[in-house]
Amino acid sequence: MAKFKNINTAVIHGGISLDEFTGAVNVPVYLSSTFKQDGLGNRRRGYEYARSGNPTREALEAQIAELDHGLAGFAFASGLAAISTVLNLFKGGDRILISNNVYGGTYRLLDKVWKNYGLNYSFVSTNNSKLFESQILPDSKAVLIESPANPLLSITDIREVANIAHKHGLTVIVDNTFMTPYLQRPLDLGADIVVYSATKYLGGHSDSVAGLVVVSTEEQKEKIGFLQNSIGAVLPPFDSYLISRGIKTLGVRLDRHVQNAEKIATYLQQHPAVKNIYYPGLKSDPGYEVNRKQARNGGAMISFELDEQKYDYKRFFQELRLILLAESLGGVESLVCHPSSMTHASIPADIRKEIGITDGLIRLSVGIEEAEDLIEDLNNAIEKSKK
Ligand SMILES: *Cc1c(COP(=O)(O)O)cnc(C)c1O
Repeated sequence: MAKFKNINTAVIHGGISLDEFTGAVNVPVYLSSTFKQDGLGNRRRGYEYARSGNPTREALEAQIAELDHGLAGFAFASGLAAISTVLNLFKGGDRILISNNVYGGTYRLLDKVWKNYGLNYSFVSTNNSKLFESQILPDSKAVLIESPANPLLSITDIREVANIAHKHGLTVIVDNTFMTPYLQRPLDLGADIVVYSATKYLGGHSDSVAGLVVVSTEEQKEKIGFLQNSIGAVLPPFDSYLISRGIKTLGVRLDRHVQNAEKIATYLQQHPAVKNIYYPGLKSDPGYEVNRKQARNGGAMISFELDEQKYDYKRFFQELRLILLAESLGGVESLVCHPSSMTHASIPADIRKEIGITDGLIRLSVGIEEAEDLIEDLNNAIEKSKK
């Protein structure tokens, strides 16, 4: 449980923050695949083989567990490796319920991989609690929530959905990638397991692919630990170091990310070219009130649609000079993407339409550059994309 009451201190001093052996203020990158044993059954500090445990990875795992008010953390080779390992808690015949706007890769994993093993899934409306309860089938074993959900940034009342899910014996898993523990702590809201693509805000510098899991009970700790070692999709020591280093500046980075996002959302909202804007930090957003209850603010992801009658969205992407067209999010640099052909291309076109991912939808990951420069870039691209 948490040693520090303030997260800006915990990101730096939480978990295992220095090397006990040398006093180095950073836990070193321990590049060793195996550890000498002093005699049969006599392992120094418990290490034996680096898939089972590596000190650099353990430092990151302790850090994220502390930040999320969890019991234990686990680091994986990617966000999807983390999610896939958690899905191994379930078996053929079980059903996983997923939010309508779940990350495309999570959908693909369930639809194209796990389904072959008899693990079923169905889409549910976690942002409508009554509807959600009616969608729970007898074989449902877990619900996987994203709030805000990708890419329409729709908000789920995590506490309410967790209460309903628990009444029916479901495990509540939250993919907290868009928020991080700095903005939202799902375990404190009643969730059982938190998963992350640490590739995004936690790493924060677009230089590593990584995933994290945080659990809240001894039973989950033992099971996920067993699965992490058995499946073996572990995060290497150097990447563990990069993510851990990224986390130390999580608070200062996110403050700036969000400050910029709020300015850009206000700018886009008043622009006549913008037909729809999705940002839970705007008072006019349908998720604003619920998000405010459970999160520090609306985060730094914004989605919007240009008026297709008058503006050419393809041209808009071409005319950006500063904001980079790329998949991913959460790095210091601003990125823009086209969900229907990029992040959500693995979702069939008819389902995409049904859940509101139109071809004109643009998703913006607001970086920490000067807001004025970002707004100028957007303004210029919008002007030039006029038909
Ligand atoms: C990127 C992402 C993932 C997948 O993580 P990888 O690190 O790319 O494997 C999962 N969930 C969300 C919300 C994401 O944005």
